[in-house]
Amino acid sequence: MDILKNSYLDEELEAVKKQGFLDYRTSQLPTWCPGCGYFGITHAIVQTCNDLQLKKEEVCVVSGIGCAGRYPIFMDVYGFHTVHGRSLPIAAGIKLSREELTVFAVAGDGDALGIGGGHLPHTIRRNVDITLFLFDNSIYGLTKGQTSPTTPLNQATNSHLKGNPDTPLKPVSLALAYGASFVARCYAGDVDGMKDVFRQAITHKGFSFIHIVTPCVTFDKTNITWGRLNGTVEPIEPVHDQTSFESALRLAEIPRLITGIFYQDKKRPSYMEIIRETQS
Ligand code: SF4
Repeated sequence: MDILKNSYLDEELEAVKKQGFLDYRTSQLPTWCPGCGYFGITHAIVQTCNDLQLKKEEVCVVSGIGCAGRYPIFMDVYGFHTVHGRSLPIAAGIKLSREELTVFAVAGDGDALGIGGGHLPHTIRRNVDITLFLFDNSIYGLTKGQTSPTTPLNQATNSHLKGNPDTPLKPVSLALAYGASFVARCYAGDVDGMKDVFRQAITHKGFSFIHIVTPCVTFDKTNITWGRLNGTVEPIEPVHDQTSFESALRLAEIPRLITGIFYQDKKRPSYMEIIRETQS
């Protein structure tokens, strides 16, 4: 008798396989630390791809450098693990040359807002039809816990032992101020909430900016933790008007972690539509 055989687990695995979302995962198991918020984000992304029945050969994921940079290794679609801060221009280039692809850019807070921060306004102003998943844990995780552009003021890190003296950036306010046509915030601990936002972001025609708040359980044990996030995250009120830029900006400036879709402009043409019009 095979003592390792566990018919209950086999049945569970078969049931999960039937749901289809595992088809979007490679056989590589993520190398992130146990408890990292990236597991939940990954789960929500592959489930959304499955819900939308995206063809794997028509999806491309582009990442930069950092813990989030490993992301394309774990999805069984086309993928580029590129250079630091450059996921956006490379993703935009792929979309412009292969319009039929669904293109995701994945970046951490240091990647997207630090070294790659200069690419954000230009991708946004062109309204290139891609989705940016910004994994924001407010710290440089891969390089062992230095201050990032979103580290809270006064938080002690491995590069500021007595506390961060820099005022953090506000990603949602930035994206709105740059003129993004779709702006949302999600919480890595809320898979259903992420799926709802991801589905609308991916089907949005234009640039979609998704700020995902997630803890780095290894290098931040005091500030952005599961326990603290669970107590502060708050869904957007259903009465919020997603077409109102002013309301979105007001919400973005609230210090609490409001999650959901802040703003969506469905009428604005995407970059390819503008190019086709100007060149016809
Ligand atoms: S270092 Fe932090 S962000 Fe990186 S995998 Fe570990 S917990 Fe996640």
